[in-house]
Amino acid sequence: MVQTSRMVWCLLCVAGFCLGSWGMTSAHAQDRVRDANRFPSYVWPVSRSDVPDYPLNDSFGPRQLASEKYRYDFHRGLDIPVPIGTPLYAVADGTVFRAGEYKQYTDPVVVLRHKFDGQIYHTYYTHLDKATVSEGQVVKQGEQIGLSGASQSGFPHLHIEMRRGSNYAKNALHPLRFLDYPDTCGPSLEIVSADTSSTEQTVVTVSVSMLPEELDLTRVEVGITEASNGTILDTQVYDMEAWNATYSAAQLDDGAFNGVRIEPDRFNRKSGVYKLTLTFTGLQGVASDADVKIIATAIDVRGNATRRSFPSR
Ligand SMILES: [Zn+2]
Repeated sequence: MVQTSRMVWCLLCVAGFCLGSWGMTSAHAQDRVRDANRFPSYVWPVSRSDVPDYPLNDSFGPRQLASEKYRYDFHRGLDIPVPIGTPLYAVADGTVFRAGEYKQYTDPVVVLRHKFDGQIYHTYYTHLDKATVSEGQVVKQGEQIGLSGASQSGFPHLHIEMRRGSNYAKNALHPLRFLDYPDTCGPSLEIVSADTSSTEQTVVTVSVSMLPEELDLTRVEVGITEASNGTILDTQVYDMEAWNATYSAAQLDDGAFNGVRIEPDRFNRKSGVYKLTLTFTGLQGVASDADVKIIATAIDVRGNATRRSFPSR
C-alpha cells in the first residue's frame, strides 16, 4: 500500500507540482541524509504499520491555530483526526513514562520512553480519552497504549510528538523523521521577491508549498552570492527544529522574530496544499553597483533539497 502511494505521488511530481525540484535534484534519492541508525523506524500510532495515518490536520512547524481565532502557532507534533475512542498503539518498544492525568496537561496523556543505540527518545500521545497502560509498564511496538479523545476545543484527534533525549519540549523533532511516508521530492519553492536596492539590508520573501501527504519541511536558507563567482556574502536560515531547541515558547509563537516573518496559510485535513511564506530581513545590504544573486533552498526531513535563484539563470 505504501508502495502504491509512492508511485502515485511520483507521477504527480512528474505531472508538474514539483517538477522544478525534480529536475534540479534528480539525484535526490542518493542525497537523503536520513540515517536509519540515528532515527529509529516507528510504526504509525493508529494503523500500527508503515501505512500513514492520513489525512493529517497539521504537521510539525508553523500553523494558524483554528481553535484560537487562527493565531500564529508553532506546532511540535502531528495532529491525526480520529473519532474519540480510537485505539492507539505503541510506535516502538518502550517503557511507559507517563500515563493518565497530570496537572500540566489538559487531557490524559501517554508518554513512552524508548532506547535505541544508547539514545533515549520520548513519544507523546496527548488529548487522550484514557490511557490503557500504567507508568513503568513495558510495551512492545504495536501494543495498545490508550484511546484517543478530543482537545479542549472539542476537536477529536491525536496529537503525537517525538523527542530525542530528555523529555523537554525543546527536544521535539519532526515526527516524519521516524515515520514512513511517501517522500518523493523536495518542497516546492519560489522566490517571491528579493529587494537588493538598499545598502543597509536585503529583504527576501520566499514561498514554500507541500502536498498534504508530504508535510516534511524542516529548513529554509537564503543567501546572497556574488553573481560572477558564487562567493557567499551572507546567509540567513530558518530551521524549525533548531529554533525549537533554541528559543522560548513565547518567541516561537511570534510569527515575526529573529529577523524572519513566518506566515503559514490556513491548513487542515481538507486542504490541497500547505503553503508557508517566509520573509528574511536579516541579510546584509549590497552596494548599488554590486552584481549579486539570491539563492534560496528548502530542505525536508530526508534531506531532499529544492534550490531557486534570483535572478534565475
Ligand atoms: Zn497538536
